[in-house]
Amino acid sequence: MQTQILERMESDVRTYSRSFPVVFTTARNARLTDEDGREYIDFLAGAGSLNYGHNNPKIKQALVDYLASDGIVHGLDFWTAAKRDYLETLEELILKPRGLDYKVQFPGPTGTNAVEAAIRLARNVKGRHNIVTFTNGFHGVTMGALATTGNRKFREATGGVPTVGGTFMPYDGYLGDGTDTLDYFEKLLTDKSGGLDVPAGVIVETVQGEGGINAAGLDWLKRLEQICQDNDILLIVDDIQAGCGRTGKFFSFEHAGITPDIVTNSKSLSGFGLPFAQVLMRPELDTWKPGQYNGTFRGFNLAFTTAAATLREYWSDDTFERDVQRKGRVVADRFAKLAAWITEQGIEASERGRGLMRGIDVGTGDIADKITAKAFENGLIIETSGQDGEVVKCLCPLTITDEDLLEGLDILEKSAKQALS
Ligand SMILES: *Cc1c(COP(=O)(O)O)cnc(C)c1O
Repeated sequence: MQTQILERMESDVRTYSRSFPVVFTTARNARLTDEDGREYIDFLAGAGSLNYGHNNPKIKQALVDYLASDGIVHGLDFWTAAKRDYLETLEELILKPRGLDYKVQFPGPTGTNAVEAAIRLARNVKGRHNIVTFTNGFHGVTMGALATTGNRKFREATGGVPTVGGTFMPYDGYLGDGTDTLDYFEKLLTDKSGGLDVPAGVIVETVQGEGGINAAGLDWLKRLEQICQDNDILLIVDDIQAGCGRTGKFFSFEHAGITPDIVTNSKSLSGFGLPFAQVLMRPELDTWKPGQYNGTFRGFNLAFTTAAATLREYWSDDTFERDVQRKGRVVADRFAKLAAWITEQGIEASERGRGLMRGIDVGTGDIADKITAKAFENGLIIETSGQDGEVVKCLCPLTITDEDLLEGLDILEKSAKQALS
């Protein structure tokens, strides 16, 4: 495999190609093929951007048809038939059945673009600067979003410019079982000498992806919603990774029965791995003036087309979400068994997650890396997350076949046993 030019010309900032140093050529659903014709099962799925698999034929057909018909590809934020169709489909299949009433903003196409827009909107609505965020939260790496991202590696890469406007509170479980971390947040809000600037909004992932597959308790999320309501604070759920079906519901917050004021989506929103993001907001929060938040690539018509096709294909009824929940139980069960085996080897390990967003905490990044490196040798693409990279995480396509899912789990188990015994 010829990798010279890739190693020589691409910036050292590259990441995933270090863990998986081969040249990929084609992919279909949960299988990737490299230039030598070797196949890999994909438990990374574009960090959760490929919930419906690689080159999903049903979604691809909608894209090919649209291109063949000379449909608008780039239209700034023009009204297009593709945009209208997407909004109609989103309203009919997702929002109305869930009793949700949101207006939709299309920021630039990345997750961090959506987070920037969401926190700026919250600040403009409330006229306050502070955004409360949580330990181990990941919300993107542009300056505004970075202020709400916990990971020191990203926070230090600003050339010394301070990241301002975010205040960290302990996420659910941060102080161990038996402590409700929201006691601290609520105390600071009510204590006039607590030192906390009253926030415009709180931004939270219901399951932290990059932070280590930490799933907040449903009661904790309900209480967080209540605290926000009681204190005139906007609740922003960052559903960029946990949304679009990953946890077994379209929106991850559905499990808790809460209704955020603002929601961000990106990653799997297009259904096809195309760049696409949206901010959902309660209609009365839409205080933007025309063009006050802009960007050249707002709403990508190819992504409108694939996103609408995805919603029609997978979200017309609950068949798909029930299947995701079933597969999630399969992974949880196998991960619990593997964690028990690892613990028997003297390395304390535990299983965690929600739906098909699952991980095994093996304590240190070193051990996790040994397992994932061995898995790659054995034909499985799987990554780690958490503050030290100590969590081996499964983000396989939700559409993965049962055969591939079981084969991937077998490879992981075999690799862990090879790496640790
Ligand atoms: C990936 C991610 C982002 C950032 O999205 P980008 O497209 O990488 O900018 C923000 N929030 C969460 C929860 C994410 O997982």
